[in-house]
Amino acid sequence: MKKIILQSLLTIAASAGLAASQPANAADDDVERLVAAMLGDTPVVTDLQELTDSIGARVTGSDTNRDAVAWAAATLQQTGVAVITEDFQMPAVWQESFVAVVISGDATFDAKAVAKPFSVSANALAGPLLDAGFGTEADFERLGPSAHAAWLLVETPVLDDDVGLGGLFAEYAVAPGFEARAAAVGAAGVAVMSSRPRNLLFRHNAAAGRSNTQPLLVLEREHAKRALRLIRSGNTLDLTATIGVEQQENITATNVIAEIKGRSRPDEIVLFGAHLDSHDLGTGALDNGVNVVMLINIARQMTRLGLQPERTIRFALWNGEEQNLDGSWKYTQQHEDELDNHIVAASFDIGSGRTTGFFTGGRPGLAPLVDSYLAPVAGLGPFQQIDIPLVGTDNYDFMMQGVPNLVANQSDANYASNYHAESDTFDKVDLHQLRLNSAIAAAVIWGFANDTARLPRQTRAEVETLINSTDLEVQMKNFAVWDAWTDESRGRHD
Ligand SMILES: [Zn+2]
Repeated sequence: MKKIILQSLLTIAASAGLAASQPANAADDDVERLVAAMLGDTPVVTDLQELTDSIGARVTGSDTNRDAVAWAAATLQQTGVAVITEDFQMPAVWQESFVAVVISGDATFDAKAVAKPFSVSANALAGPLLDAGFGTEADFERLGPSAHAAWLLVETPVLDDDVGLGGLFAEYAVAPGFEARAAAVGAAGVAVMSSRPRNLLFRHNAAAGRSNTQPLLVLEREHAKRALRLIRSGNTLDLTATIGVEQQENITATNVIAEIKGRSRPDEIVLFGAHLDSHDLGTGALDNGVNVVMLINIARQMTRLGLQPERTIRFALWNGEEQNLDGSWKYTQQHEDELDNHIVAASFDIGSGRTTGFFTGGRPGLAPLVDSYLAPVAGLGPFQQIDIPLVGTDNYDFMMQGVPNLVANQSDANYASNYHAESDTFDKVDLHQLRLNSAIAAAVIWGFANDTARLPRQTRAEVETLINSTDLEVQMKNFAVWDAWTDESRGRHD
């Protein structure tokens, strides 16, 4: 099936090439050449290997993150686009240095675990290990005062490729509840069962983000299940945890920004971004190296073909995404006086599954535009735009600034099961689909960059209306960004 689609596109591309001496429409010719280039042989795979295998994990604040910034700037520079790096300050970055967990009592065993980012440190912190069910209100009622000073073992449904993205959203949805309940009863800490089978560990940020005040662990699923079976058959267990945390304060991080100046309307900016940073367990291949190299390669092919858009195309490789979406947030502050002229800000952050369309962020006017820009790659569809606002990646601060924003919607493939896990490595990336996604992304970027249509930037009141008419408030609370909107440290002021 995929082969047939690719073949027909290559045929279109080839015929476009043949007609190049007398193009009926220069703009159509350009997009067809661009799409064909994205489907052909490019350095995108080498780029991905360099970023993930050679550089590796890229936690903001780490040396490898700085290596990744230097690599991305140099690689973009080589494509011929204009590149700048933009520093911004982060109040703190978190990194685990050491975790050891021992379960003892009626049975004794070491349990492999990692700390959740923004967990506090702990030094041989011991307490009874209690079965906290799924951490619901009813579970906490059942535990009563016994939860105080105890380690609470929270069960999770399995998250594998069959469950996919829905399971990931569910994890984000339930964590704020049980973490807050544990803090309220004064638990020693929370040990969440890893949702990934076969000893796979991953990191989700503490639901309260930088405001978290308690120790939070993810325990290997098999060890957690063993402990639960023992507890449920009447055994008494304790958990002792040592959590070493390296917190650096007031660090400088760097976004990498590249652009191709627009020919006739250079002030109008079409911004496409992906985050360069990662968590540290895997090497950030699906999240989000694959989309970083995709954007670099689109820039490369545009300059190689000598394409000149009417509007300015800006490529943004964000930093600090995994820790509070800081890079794109700081960009919206540093470029505040340009935001009225941001035609769109798009993010790619769902791995290498098939691009099925775009989330249009509660701006119904975007869908028909995206539909029309996808016409040259219709053979790679079907596509469907979904008009809901999303929190969780770098479109967020643009949305709160009233800027039309998109998030590429992608089929889950293997994204959720490897998300923030040790297994998020180069070999998980679907390299064939990466090319097809690149063609889709390039067509949409090119469409925006050569159109005259534009949606107005929304006022704060209009963004508030969007919040009140959708589930945005819940999503913002789940990602610990609600308070910053209400105190106006984040988002549009007027
Ligand atoms: Zn990501």
